[in-house]
Amino acid sequence: MPGPPGQGYTGIADLAGSVLSRTMENSIMIPVKRTQHVRPTVFLDFDNTISRFDVFDSLLLNFAKDDRWRGLEDKWKKGRIGSKECLAGQLTSISVTRERLDKYLSNIKLDRYFKRLLRLLRARGIKTVILSDNFDYILDRVLKSNGIGRLKVYSNKLKFKDGRLIPRFDFTDKYCRKCAHCKKKNLFANAGNGSMTVYVGDGLSDICPSKNVDLVFAKEDLLRYCRKNKLPCIPYKELKDVYDYFKKN
Ligand SMILES: [Mg+2]
Ligand SMILES: [Zn+2]
Repeated sequence: MPGPPGQGYTGIADLAGSVLSRTMENSIMIPVKRTQHVRPTVFLDFDNTISRFDVFDSLLLNFAKDDRWRGLEDKWKKGRIGSKECLAGQLTSISVTRERLDKYLSNIKLDRYFKRLLRLLRARGIKTVILSDNFDYILDRVLKSNGIGRLKVYSNKLKFKDGRLIPRFDFTDKYCRKCAHCKKKNLFANAGNGSMTVYVGDGLSDICPSKNVDLVFAKEDLLRYCRKNKLPCIPYKELKDVYDYFKKN
């Protein structure tokens, strides 16, 4: 069992052990560092991982003034354009006032276990970071209205200007043509030295970070990618599964 807060997370060997035992069950290799007494860092995607659905897609469904965004979505899913081109293009279809958008965002509920998971990780001194290919304006409001503070969040930026939504992409990677916010960069910057890294996600923007961590929790598109490409992962349906995993370890 892990020690009390401030005593260091001592469950790593067990965590690695249980991953390896699952590995044997499934006959796949999961490369877990056998480092003792080092706290893991947990990285979570936001849309459809912490939130119960893709919040950015829901903005398009609710506030798009035309259908151009669907063509961009299709091209992005087929890998013909990157996420930056897709998102920037889709934003031009959204027509909404700041007041309406704020009201809409303030009503979005998160996964029912997100707060419990955060509390559990905090109690064990495990650093938690959100890595999102959505926008700060959107995440800030949704997290705040759900009473979530004191969290490291990395995302693209968004501003209202003359009734339009203007994006800024600070975390692109010149070698990655898929992501707008290529999450690898902020993953490496926040992973403690020698710390075990865990990633929880659901979609195509989670592929880059998932290839660079010790343990992946995956669902939906990310799970399909992992299975197809033999990237080891633990399937999950909701954050309760991730919570239960850490609770046991
Ligand atoms: Mg997502
Ligand atoms: Zn990338």
